[in-house]
Order: sequence, then C-alpha cells, then structure tokens
Amino acid sequence: MRNLLDLDAAGLEAFVAGLGEKPFRARQLLRWIHRRGVAEFTAMTDLARSLRERLAGAAVVAAPPVISDSTSADGTRKWLLDVGQGNAIETVFIPEEDRGTLCVSSQAGCAMNCLFCATGRQGFNRNLTTAEIIGQLWWAEHALRAQQGVTAEHERVISNVVLMGMGEPLHNYNNVWSALRRLIDPEAFGLGARHITLSTVGLVPMIDRMADEGLQIGLAVSLHAPNDELRTQLTPINKAYSVDELLAAVRRYVAKTNRRVTFEYALMAGVNDSPELAQEMAHKLQGILCHVNLIPLNPIPDSPFQPTSDEETERFAQILRNAGIPTTIRLRRGIEINAGCGQLRRAMAASGNGRRGVKMQPAENG
Ligand code: SAH
Repeated sequence: MRNLLDLDAAGLEAFVAGLGEKPFRARQLLRWIHRRGVAEFTAMTDLARSLRERLAGAAVVAAPPVISDSTSADGTRKWLLDVGQGNAIETVFIPEEDRGTLCVSSQAGCAMNCLFCATGRQGFNRNLTTAEIIGQLWWAEHALRAQQGVTAEHERVISNVVLMGMGEPLHNYNNVWSALRRLIDPEAFGLGARHITLSTVGLVPMIDRMADEGLQIGLAVSLHAPNDELRTQLTPINKAYSVDELLAAVRRYVAKTNRRVTFEYALMAGVNDSPELAQEMAHKLQGILCHVNLIPLNPIPDSPFQPTSDEETERFAQILRNAGIPTTIRLRRGIEINAGCGQLRRAMAASGNGRRGVKMQPAENG
C-alpha cells in the first residue's frame, strides 16, 4: 500500500500512470487530499468509480496515529502522534485572533544535543518521512475543521506553520523541503511561503541551500549565545559552525530572500544573561535585518539551568533595543502544567512573521 501523503505532484503523476491513468488525475488527487482533507477514495466523486476502486486497493492516505489529544484552557491543542517503535512526536496548534499556527516536528528525537533542550536529551531516533511531516498538518487541519465546523474548501484553520517542534529541520533537509513544497503548492495545501517559519540551531551549509530555494520562508536561528566559547557549551553544533560563520550565512539568507530573520535566545540565569553578553550580541548583530526574541527558559527536570528573572530579562532586552535591534520578550506567567507544550509554545510564539508585532500572550496553562 502506497501512502499518498508521501507523494508530491510529480510522484502522484507517476503513481497514477502506473494505474494506467492520465497525469491530470494526480492534480485531482492532490486537491482531494490536501485541499479538502479527504482520505477516503470513495468520497472523491470526480474520479471514475473504477479508478476509486483501484486506488482503494493500492493506496492509503494515512497520517501517523494519534496517541493523545489535549486542549488547554486558552485553546492550545496538542497531539502526540505515534511514529512507530516507541517513538512519539508532538504537534501543537496555537489559535490567535488573526491566525492559527501549527508547530510541526521534523525528527523523532534530535541529534543536536543542546544542553537545555528536552528533546536533545532523548537522543536521535530517526528522520521523519515526508508523509509524517505533512501528515501532522493534514491531521491537524482535518481535526480542527471538524472541531470548528469548517467545511468550505478555501477556508483554512491553519494559517501559519512553524518548524519548531521536535528535531532539527535542516538535519532532515530533503524530507522537510519536500513537505514544505507541498505546503506551498496552490493545488496542495496552498499556504504562502511567508506564513512558514523554519527554526534551526544553525547548520550553515543548509541555510545556504535554503536561501537558494528562492522561497520567502521565514528563518529563525537559535542563537542562545553571542560568542563561540559559550555557544559551543550550550549548543555543541557550534564546534562545526562558529558564530561568525553562522551570522555570515544569515546575512546571505537576508540578502537572497529579503526577509527579516529572527534570533531566538533562551535566557538562562547566570549563564547567558549578563549585560556584557547583551552588548556583545548587539555588536555582532549590527547591520543584519533581524529581530531578537528572548525566550525565558523552560526548565527541564534534572537540569542545572534556571530561567532569568523578569528584571534581568528586561535589562537584556533594553540593551539590545538601545543598540537599535528590535527585541521582544515572552514573559513567563502562570504555572505550566504541561512543560513540553509550554516549551514549544513559547518558542513558536516567538517566531512572529511580520504580519504584526509579537504580542504578549495570556498566562500559559496548557
Ligand atoms: N532544532 C531547531 C528547532 C526546535 S527547538 C532549533 O534549534 O531551532 C525550538 C526552539 O526552542 C529553539 O530555539 C530551541 O533552542 C528552544 N528551546 C529548546 N529547549 C528549550 C527550553 N528548555 N526552554 C526554552 N526554549 C527552548
């Protein structure tokens, strides 16, 4: 059985050709699957019955099975999806007034080993397939439409997608990009590239490759420290790509795409939150079309890292702002019952996308 979520337009054309069908059938299938969120071939009424029967015998449209589905008081909804062999991934939907953002995972586990990250601690299991990446979106849009009673084909519950879930998306480049292209394809999901943000720890050659794609996908870079000495301790991948090399790649990305890049910086008390580091960062980021998002650390169990206080966070932000660098803070409020979700959520909300400023969120309790 072929999972059609794995196939893009060209792949579907080859697949239907194998069934003795004309190429335009592939576009019809693409629309049914991604535009209308339909999985049952019997419901695809503009396909001949004989084709529907052959499809049912040869293919499925299957997102990863749901392990759990929870909604917090503020409407944030989180699914835990089963990707086999004991591996689960998280997908989170965050409704806001003027948008609905889906935070998508790209790997089961992660190989980057960032010291303060919960996913890093579980190690790397494997890359997600394109079907598993696009399947998160397919499933979420499907479930959200059912929940909200949305039936019109042109209406979208999910308006923005951020690759800020589990995993390092640029470490799974081909599958992630094949999913992104499907997201953007007007005959598939049809989301604007500008409504998509990819967050990376900074795999320099892959940032360049991404710039060469010629799409206006938003780039968020997890910086967390402005110099090699500290950054190598927090994010070991910095040994391979230094801060200067990373910032040079970001400049190239901005030059090619004309998009403002976001730097994410999780503030950790006594580790990366001193005024001197803020100065150093302000100096390093001069001249880059960027925005800094300061993320209060989400403490993870048995970790020595603690979040920076609100006052110190404000001071850090002020130094950056005084140096002309647009900076936003997510304040830590409320008690987080679900730390994993809270972690994803804060990072996500930090992505912004230029449609409006990043605004403070109400207390997180999901
Ligand atoms: N691998 C990608 C995307 C996944 S993580 C990346 O590194 O960007 C999404 C964001 O959450 C990253 O900025 C990451 O550094 C941050 N993050 C990880 N652990 C965190 C924690 N405990 N508290 C706050 N942010 C965290």
